[in-house]
Amino acid sequence: MKTIGLLGGMSWESTVTYYQVINEIVNQELGGLHSAKILLYSVDFAEIEKCQADGDWDKSADILSAAAKNLEKAGADFIVICTNTMHKVVPQIQSKIGIPILHIAEATADELKRCNITKVALLGTKYTMTQDFYKEKLTRAGITVLIPDEQEIETVNNIIYKELCLGIISEISKEKYRDIIKALSRRGAEGVILGCTEIGMLIRQQDTDLPVFDTTRIHASKAAMLSTER
Ligand code: GLU
Repeated sequence: MKTIGLLGGMSWESTVTYYQVINEIVNQELGGLHSAKILLYSVDFAEIEKCQADGDWDKSADILSAAAKNLEKAGADFIVICTNTMHKVVPQIQSKIGIPILHIAEATADELKRCNITKVALLGTKYTMTQDFYKEKLTRAGITVLIPDEQEIETVNNIIYKELCLGIISEISKEKYRDIIKALSRRGAEGVILGCTEIGMLIRQQDTDLPVFDTTRIHASKAAMLSTER
């Protein structure tokens, strides 16, 4: 079995889900008392969030590269960065290490293609929804990406940082997300990407008629399958 290097803590709430899903799938695959071989480097999210807010992506890349190097040194076979947003600095991190990074947007694009989705709604942080680093992976796979309008982007983003990253799950926020997903469905979305690793704590498949693509589960499942591959 390969050892998975989790780069987590962004936020720790969603890293918990990664740990659980990876172990569940490895056990399903291998049976008995088998569980996943995982190394976890959990960063202080306040430091990362400050870099984001300051637009100092180079500093965040330095922090995450140092962490990834430690995971490599400790014996990780590949790296899983447990956040969509920080995939913005994947090229910088990858250039500092000799083991591969399992990309969350590429894993999601593969899953969308498997389900024949050609037009998809994307919910995530404002960075993920409005910048190119993430959407580009989907459009390159032939998938059209729809994002909410400007005011809705603020709403989705604020709920992530002010509630979900702090473990706060609110019915009012769930309704706001549902309304935003409905509007995207009316614009032609055939599915919705939960493109932030905390959104799955708020929105589940039963909350919408659109097929839900939860990036945390997709990414964690792919990592588990890769670790058990012979
Ligand atoms: N976990 C979130 C994501 O998947 C947001 C936190 C962050 O900014 O890293 O994008």
